[in-house]
This record gives sequence, structure tokens and C-alpha cells, in this order.
Amino acid sequence: MQICYISGMKRIYINELKNHIGEEVSISGWIDIRRDHGKLIFVDIRDMSGKIQAVALPNNKSAHEAASTVRPEWVIRASGIINKRPEKMISKNKETGEIEPNGDIELELKTVEILNQADTPAFDIRSNGLDINEEMRLKYRYLDLRRPRMQKNIRNRHKIIKMVRDSLDKQDFVEVETPILTRSTPEGARDYVVPSRLWHSNFYALPQSPQQYKQLLMAGGMEKYFQIARCFRDEDTRGDRQPEFTQMDMEMSFVKREDVMDVTEKLLVDLVTKLYPHKKIQELPFPRMSYKEAMEKYKIDRPDIRKDKNDPDLLAFVWVIDFPFFEKTEEGGWTFTHNPFSRPKDEHMQMLMDKKNIGDILTTQYDIVLNGFEIGGGSIRNHEPNALLKVFEIMGYAEEEVREKFGHMLHALASGTPPHGGIAWGLDRLVTILENEPNIREVIAFAKTGEGKDPMMGAPAAIADKQLKELGIKLAK
Ligand code: ASP
Repeated sequence: MQICYISGMKRIYINELKNHIGEEVSISGWIDIRRDHGKLIFVDIRDMSGKIQAVALPNNKSAHEAASTVRPEWVIRASGIINKRPEKMISKNKETGEIEPNGDIELELKTVEILNQADTPAFDIRSNGLDINEEMRLKYRYLDLRRPRMQKNIRNRHKIIKMVRDSLDKQDFVEVETPILTRSTPEGARDYVVPSRLWHSNFYALPQSPQQYKQLLMAGGMEKYFQIARCFRDEDTRGDRQPEFTQMDMEMSFVKREDVMDVTEKLLVDLVTKLYPHKKIQELPFPRMSYKEAMEKYKIDRPDIRKDKNDPDLLAFVWVIDFPFFEKTEEGGWTFTHNPFSRPKDEHMQMLMDKKNIGDILTTQYDIVLNGFEIGGGSIRNHEPNALLKVFEIMGYAEEEVREKFGHMLHALASGTPPHGGIAWGLDRLVTILENEPNIREVIAFAKTGEGKDPMMGAPAAIADKQLKELGIKLAK
């Protein structure tokens, strides 16, 4: 671990202390808990790497006094000697009998320097926190993040993202950032919009996904793209949805459905075997099921095929394929089921071009489902402009309207765009399942409530009249 010099002695991270028995060391961190036995005062000190018990002996007056002053969550720098604990004081895991991390050593305090005090925390941060009112947890998220479970979740999320990045980099993918301020597109949900100050009455939209940009990157000759991408969807309140969420988004040129599925599957298997070796993948290669079969057998298009639903470490991946391209709208027209940019299966291409038997056209869409949750989905795209036009025609758009809204896509497709396809993973959901967490808010550092609020920042919030004026906006009373 990197070493950081504060003043004088170099700081040692707590998980390294076992290598410094008998030495004088300096550590920095938080008071986790204090147990005052009068003569002996014990304080557990915590940093990002772990926890150690420190003891202040009465013969060291200043350390003893400081140890009796500090309270949980105060920030300190402490120095002292690392001693081995006597055999009967070694702290062991009650269930397994294994020695706890640092359970056999102790810091005998020499100096305690108080770097900052702390108010009494709004709630217990040593528990797993699941029984604490969530609005409170989100309001004081900086405290909530200190609990070991949240530390683990956020650090493991980082490891997953890092592994994805490293692996895709090795496979010659490039990570490209695509705009956050963009234009409203028909991806199925409501857009978040941002008023333009320079162009009154006009609005940017926040991307529901980088779908068009990633295809335009294929038009741009990038061939292999990925991005850890933030997506924004203004959907009605549903407990486990977040207004903004993260996708691992990718797109490849000159590929068929099998190629994208193959890259995805290898990456997922690699992630599980390297980062979660105690977990068991139920079936390899991932089984495949048609939409029709899933609906007939499981009555849902994201079946939970686990053979043992009580096993928290069983991972049952399944690909669901062969979805209908279109479904009827309430008004009796047609809309796409997944993605308007998808390509039909080869054998159904002619039906699309002829706009015949629309309900029978199957798309190249593939969804990856894990334990009953859709953790990703993608497709091969229509790379010919005429085919894309047909999709929009079927949905009832006039050609002019399509040209106005998607002229750039049609033009790009008419400018030498290779066949291409991709997928996007719902990264928050994947991490949630791997971490055995009950909902995605447990793996997002600064999540919003189920009602889309950020109680810590107080968002959403009114803005000043001056801002409204600049934007040319008058609020309806
Ligand atoms: N953009 C799609 C989505 O967000 C995923 C894809 O087809 O690549 O669902």
C-alpha cells in the first residue's frame, strides 16, 4: 500500500501492522469504539484498510488522558508499539474459530493526536445498517459509507469496474466518453431535460443510454468501444430504480450476435471466478432460452432458473433471445419492444422491409438474465438506412419526422457504417447481486431515495428567480 508522510513518522496502514511487531509505528484513522476500564482504556482505531485495538496504560499520562477524551468517529493520529496479545486475549471469530484480522496484536499507545472531533453520529455505523431508516442513511451518506458493509460494496464495485476496463483494454476496446448534454431520443422512458440559456425554449436531454453515440462511434471507425456510462431515465417511482444509473456499455463492428454474446459471457465468467471465487455458476456455457420458451415456462422474460433459490452464492445466468421486435401500443399502433435501432433476425429482414407480419418479426436482441434479474441487453443493429427507416415507419413516423429527428443516424448509416452490434450491462444491478445486497442503492455511493430525492444535497430544489430569468422560464402557478 502507498505510504503517506504526515508529520515525522511515516503512516502505516492498519492492515500492515502485523508486519511491525515490536516496532514503534504511527497510524491515522477514526475511533471506532472506546472501552474505558478506568486504568486501561481500549480504543479500536479504524482506517480504510482495517481495524486494530489500541490500549492506553495509566503510566503514560498524556496518551491515557487523550484516550479518555476521544469519542467514536473522532479522527486521530496515534503512535505506539505493536505488541503480540497474550494467548487468551487473542480475538477469534465466534463461528469459525479463526483469528480475526489483527486479533492477535495490539497497539500500546504512546501519543494520541486529535486531528478532528466528531458530533455523535446520527446512527450506528458499526452495524450493517439495513434496519436504519434509509432516508436518514442517505441524508448522512458520508457517515453511512463508513460502515464496513458499504466500504466493502463500494470497493468491490471499483474492483469489478477495474477488471472490466483492464480486460476490454486487453481486447483492444477503447473507452470513449459520450455527451451528457444531448437530445431527447425514443428509448422508451421519459427524458430528463435541461433548459438552454443561450437558446431559449430549447432543451438538452440527459442520455437514457449512449445508444446513438456508440453507433456513431462505429460509423466513426472506432470498431471496439466501451464506456462505464451514466444513464438517466425519468421513470415513475419504483422502489429499486434510480433516476441515474450506470451501464457498462459496449459496441463492436463487423460482429454477429454470437460475437457479442461471447465477449460478454467470457467477461462475466472471468469476473466471477477472479473476484467471487466462492460463488458457483450454475451452468456453463450460459444456457439460452427463447422469449417464447421463457414466457411459456416461466411466464416472465427474465426467468430465475436457479436450482436452489436458498443458496446465496449460486449464480444462474441465462440468455434470453428471439424477442418479438414490435408490440402493439394501447392505441393499436406498433412500438419496439427493446430498441428501435436493432436489426431483425436475418430470416425476418424481408418482413421488415415489406412491413408484413409485423407481430412475427423477431429481433436480434439478447438479454442476459442473472437469478431472475435482467443484468444486460443488446442487439445487432440495422446498419442500412432503409431498414432503420422501415422501423420508424412501422411505428407510425412520417419520413420527414424521422429525417428531422434521426437524420444524423440515417446519414451516418449511408456513409459507410459497418455492420455492428453491442450490449449494455446494468452495472449497479450486477454488483448488487454479486454482493448479495437487497437493492441497488446499497452499491451506489450517493444514491437517491425511491422517490428520486437526494436528502443530503436537498435535490431536487427550486432555483433562484435570476436563474429562471436567464433561462427564459416562467413557472406555472
Ligand atoms: N442501449 C441499450 C439499453 O440501454 C443497450 C444496447 O442495446 O446496447 O438498453
